[in-house]
Amino acid sequence: GPNIDAWSEFQPLGVVAGITPFNFPVMVPLWMIPVAIAAGNCFILKPSERDPSSTLFIAQLLQEAGLPKGVLNVVNGDKEAVDILLRDSRIQAVSFVGSTPVAEYIYATATAHGKRCQALGGAKNHAIVMPDADIDNAVNQLLGAAFGSSGERCMALSVAVAVGDAAADALIAKMKEAMKNLKVGAYSDSTNDFGPVITRQHQQKVVGYIDSAEEQGATVVVDGRQPNVAGYEEGFFVGGTLIDHVTPDMQSYREEIFGPVLQVVRVNSMQEAMALIDKHEYGNGTCIFTRDGEAARYFSDNIKVGMVGINVPLPVPVAYHSFGGWKRSLFGDLHAYGPDGVRFYTRRKTVTQRWLSSGVREGAEFSMPTMK
Ligand code: NAD
Repeated sequence: GPNIDAWSEFQPLGVVAGITPFNFPVMVPLWMIPVAIAAGNCFILKPSERDPSSTLFIAQLLQEAGLPKGVLNVVNGDKEAVDILLRDSRIQAVSFVGSTPVAEYIYATATAHGKRCQALGGAKNHAIVMPDADIDNAVNQLLGAAFGSSGERCMALSVAVAVGDAAADALIAKMKEAMKNLKVGAYSDSTNDFGPVITRQHQQKVVGYIDSAEEQGATVVVDGRQPNVAGYEEGFFVGGTLIDHVTPDMQSYREEIFGPVLQVVRVNSMQEAMALIDKHEYGNGTCIFTRDGEAARYFSDNIKVGMVGINVPLPVPVAYHSFGGWKRSLFGDLHAYGPDGVRFYTRRKTVTQRWLSSGVREGAEFSMPTMK
């Protein structure tokens, strides 16, 4: 109809909450806080109880910068605090990042309480090493991607899928050699490549996965179960570990280890490698090392994973894209930060308006038929 204007605008939700994991205690809260606040919301953050101080520091800096009181709130605690946030009707939306069982619980509980929810979960990221790959480059990239941050990152490459025995043998030989220089030790010493894992319990869990792979028939090529870190004998260290001949039925393959462990699965073709990745319950990140553009395009078009790298081991999207996995690595519809983040923290309002000039009715007719 003439003289009618219509448009959509995106308005803030009100109060939104974020629940974050122990790893990346600054980065993950910063996936949420700036976008939520810039979109006009107030934000309640529940950081990991295992490293809560960095978010208090962020809150302090924002307060010093003049952020009005109450716009960002940090609530410390564990499940008890989370459950209160999930049930409080004043909170409109919940962003979660953490392990998959908790993500699933958060999504089910938040949505059952009428909230919008995005819950990012765990991962098992595979890298395909094609027979034509630059093996030296792949080894170098895998070293950083598998062992950096002690493997405690949801984008860590924890499985290398070597296509053909020649690629697998070359990868294992070069990796074994390169890992001689990998240094685990205290994070306070910058000559170390990576530090301890988060807790004693987690250290034991990682070691347990290495034990189980060995018991189930895999070959531990480089064994980090008993690293020698002088002066820190009680530290929660696990050295870089390389395991060959891992098969999909093994527990260490099926579950997320979240430690400095790289497992190698041998396959005969790219199709077999892709089928393996597609079958895994997680679908966060993946990567292919190849010199073949056609193979790379086929891989990125068809693989069932949310973030794909071509000769890029940790394809974490830059800020103007959004971060998120597929399958059981994300519950919800929208990914974190970037354009999806803006959509998550806003709701669409559509306005249709008409102004009659001098009382003259023309164009669209809204009256009842008998009242024209
Ligand atoms: P976690 O699931 O144990 O904890 C995450 C948050 O949930 C914490 O704030 C914790 O207090 C809370 N929580 C824990 N148990 C709870 C329960 N039963 N009920 C309610 N709340 C609970 O995760 P974590 O060990 O801190 O972090 C590691 C995990 O996070 C890994 O699985 C990793 O893959 C995942 N992660 C995923 C991403 C991603 O973007 N997909 C990013 C970083 C980490």
